[in-house]
Amino acid sequence: MRVEYNIWGMANRIGNVVVLNKNLKKYPWLHDKLLEHESKHNEKSLYNIKHDLKSLKNTKMIEWIAKTKFMLRYPRSLVQLSPIWFYKGRVYFDLSLMLVYSIPTISLMRHLIW
Ligand SMILES: [Zn+2]
Repeated sequence: MRVEYNIWGMANRIGNVVVLNKNLKKYPWLHDKLLEHESKHNEKSLYNIKHDLKSLKNTKMIEWIAKTKFMLRYPRSLVQLSPIWFYKGRVYFDLSLMLVYSIPTISLMRHLIW
């Protein structure tokens, strides 16, 4: 596993590479939390979705606050919230985010239809 830094998003895993926002270096605690999360991702889509949902459930309020503060301080990190993004000329889909976003969307559609 290799770590690369850029200015977009916060933390992502692409194959064997973990891509972190370079400004996270100024926030070692958050940096290490995100690196730990991303390092546990693997090639299996289903496992990755489970890993994300479990971590979504277990994330403590202090970490949500730290992430929100970071995103407001570095607006380019807000790209993290997009389920579709680009890295080195390729398109990537975040299946976990798509799933998370589809729940309120389906629920809203059901209210509109019935
Ligand atoms: Zn994840």
